[in-house]
Amino acid sequence: MEKLTPAMRQYMEVKEANPDAIVFFRMGDFYEMFFDDARTASRVLGITLTSRDKDKKIPMCGFPFHAATSYIARLVKEGYKVAVCEQIEEPGRGGKGGGGVVVKRAVSRVITPGVVFDDEILDAGSNNYIAAATMNSGTSGFSYMDASTGEFRATVLASRAELFDEIMRVRPLELLVPEKEVGSFPPGAIDVKKITPAPDRDFSPREATERLCQQFGTASLDGLGLRDMPEGIGAAGALLGYIKETQKAPLKHLRGLVPYHTHEFLVMDPATRRNLEITHNIISGGKDSTLLGLLDRTRTAIGARTLKTWLLNPLKDAEAINMRLDAVGELLEKRPEREALAEQLSGVYDLERLTARVSLGTAGPRDLAALAGSLARIPEVKRTLREFSSPLLKEISSSLDGVAEVVVLVGNAIADAPPVHARDGGVIREGHSSALDELRSIRAGGKDNIARLEAAERERTGIPTLKVAYNRVFGYYIEVTRANLDRVPDDYIRKQTLVGAERFITQDLKEWEEKVLTAEEKSRTLEIDLFGEVVSSAAVHARRIQRDAGLIGAVDALASLAAAADSLDYRRPVVNDGFDLVIEGGRHPMIEANLAEDFIPNDIELVPESRQIILLTGPNMAGKSTYLRQNALIVLMAQIGSYVPAARAEIGVVDRIFTRIGAADDLSRGQSTFMVEMNETANILNNATERSLVILDEIGRGTSTFDGLSIAWSVVEHLHDSPALRGRTRTLFATHYHELTELSLTKERVRNYNMAVRHWEDRIIFLRKVVPGGCSSSYGIQVARLAGLPASVIERAGEILKNLESGELTSTGMPRLATGRPRGASGAGRSE
Ligand code: ADP
Repeated sequence: MEKLTPAMRQYMEVKEANPDAIVFFRMGDFYEMFFDDARTASRVLGITLTSRDKDKKIPMCGFPFHAATSYIARLVKEGYKVAVCEQIEEPGRGGKGGGGVVVKRAVSRVITPGVVFDDEILDAGSNNYIAAATMNSGTSGFSYMDASTGEFRATVLASRAELFDEIMRVRPLELLVPEKEVGSFPPGAIDVKKITPAPDRDFSPREATERLCQQFGTASLDGLGLRDMPEGIGAAGALLGYIKETQKAPLKHLRGLVPYHTHEFLVMDPATRRNLEITHNIISGGKDSTLLGLLDRTRTAIGARTLKTWLLNPLKDAEAINMRLDAVGELLEKRPEREALAEQLSGVYDLERLTARVSLGTAGPRDLAALAGSLARIPEVKRTLREFSSPLLKEISSSLDGVAEVVVLVGNAIADAPPVHARDGGVIREGHSSALDELRSIRAGGKDNIARLEAAERERTGIPTLKVAYNRVFGYYIEVTRANLDRVPDDYIRKQTLVGAERFITQDLKEWEEKVLTAEEKSRTLEIDLFGEVVSSAAVHARRIQRDAGLIGAVDALASLAAAADSLDYRRPVVNDGFDLVIEGGRHPMIEANLAEDFIPNDIELVPESRQIILLTGPNMAGKSTYLRQNALIVLMAQIGSYVPAARAEIGVVDRIFTRIGAADDLSRGQSTFMVEMNETANILNNATERSLVILDEIGRGTSTFDGLSIAWSVVEHLHDSPALRGRTRTLFATHYHELTELSLTKERVRNYNMAVRHWEDRIIFLRKVVPGGCSSSYGIQVARLAGLPASVIERAGEILKNLESGELTSTGMPRLATGRPRGASGAGRSE
């Protein structure tokens, strides 16, 4: 430490205070990184590693200060945390001299994956969540926040499994956990890139309550409805503490802590969300070919996030669903009004994130202009919405506020087309501040003023040749020729004598000079101050703007659903509190959109009293998975309030959709395919209710045929007979164990269907049509032929199958796999 230069000693102190962050250390026009930070940054950012001292002992790398945002973006995306350490006094005052005085520096902000405000880093259509979780004893606490929009929620969960499901639903970019529980949160199991340990104490409900009360200026949290959620409060408090610490600013835009229960919404476990490709496709994890990708016609970033949130949180309340459906229906019908609305919405920028920046004081002039410009669109949105009569749209229309104060404030104070930064000048509109206007006119009108002054002095002294001029050495001066010196008044102060003239200054002139020379500097600082005032005045209205943002998000999402329904020919589903699921002419929304040929529609009729469980058989590739998924997707779409790809649909509200589809190998978590499959099946059987929709695809594939068949058989029996399920749990079960179709003989509410195929010269043609009845063969061999297995293998497989199916068993009861060509069949045996 002693051997280090003063600047490096300062660096070490900063680093010590921010051990888990990469420190960007401002040195002149550069940010530098040292030691391990330099190594990491050089690797992740691809910048050259050098060294700082002669001994080459201190690795270092850096980049020009103006490039910081993009470097921060890249590091944060990789899950790193960045602390930006600035020089907080003018360099030169401290100086580099040997005196050991260094420029003062301090960390101005910490950017961590979960807490980002820069548009360059944020994805407009997604929330940027940071969450906190604790499972210390039995009940788990969970809280999440999008600091960039002000959303803040908390809940409690009954078990570790539920907590993990919830973490995977929210998909936080960073998860805060108590130090002592770090081991309980394996990053792989919850899919979180950055897990940040926080002091255990921060999670204590008592400390957290205090912190939250202070934040929201309340005496207790009772009014927020959090009374029965101590663990959730603990998590929320820890989260708030962490954000405050990293942002070093009050978070005025936080919209209050909203308690929630996961069972308010249609629950889907992570596997189901993945299988149904709601927001991320299975192949690349991107948004293309997902339900969100298909339905998203939103015009605003807030709308895009709202739609995504709806898709991940479908409703369960038939009345609320029908309110949305009414709104979508009306928007669908009134196309010109809808299109006008879309046009108006296009002019609304990200009110949520703009407001967040205004509240944090990090908004620039353009942010303010965008904020006011967006709010200015709201009255026309309101007017357009008056054309609609569905209750939800009417409510939105009457609740939209427009926050005219902010529009007026910004309109009066901020210039048209302002620069990016307040320090660039030209931000404040003329007429907003007389002090600023004067400074500007002094600056701009220097010459005019000289002429005016000259004229005034000539008149006062009666010297017609008097001149006012400027030079660098003396500044402004008055020059009087020798001949007129006797007329010089007393208040002239002699400055310089020339051959034919004398130069003077006056007190007034000096003052004016001071004014001119500093006008530039002063107007700049004044503009920054005035801008700051405008920002603070706008911040006062943060909550109201956030409310409008929420309403705009909802209108945009509803209009998007209507536009999608219009272009994709969807129909309004009937949604009620019954238990039926009847769909006529249903289609798979994403496959239909991507298919070159026509999609073949299919019906389903799950009416639990008589048909609770559908057993679907048919060869591979026939379209079973597609059919299963399309029915689940239609239910999900209906419950967010969307029209559906079907000719007709009647849906009794579903409380959970369970899917066990395909063999999602999970070797990274050390589980075999079969184990994963059994875990998923156990989850379904333990958690399904009479209101659930259960979709099972090929249970028991990863084990021997008899094992698999037995498990599949008893699972169906359980769903049919379990008293808790009252014979109502709607179930779709696809299998290629055609033996299972016999279940319909003993279980009255089990119905057999199959995917129709046509035989043609030893081959099969898929008709993609679901028809009643079981299917007597798996057609595995025909599909294998389609795949191009050698003819000899196909032929031999056919023989083996025939023997297996004729049930020939050996004397020990084992199938006689080898009896196709009995050894010596034509030999000695027969002749004996
Ligand atoms: P399975 O689950 O029976 O093996 P899939 O559901 O995966 O079969 O379907 C295989 C392919 O058949 C799909 O990728 C799709 O291209 C096509 N397909 C499925 N159902 C239909 C349909 N109803 N109309 C048109 N094509 C379909």
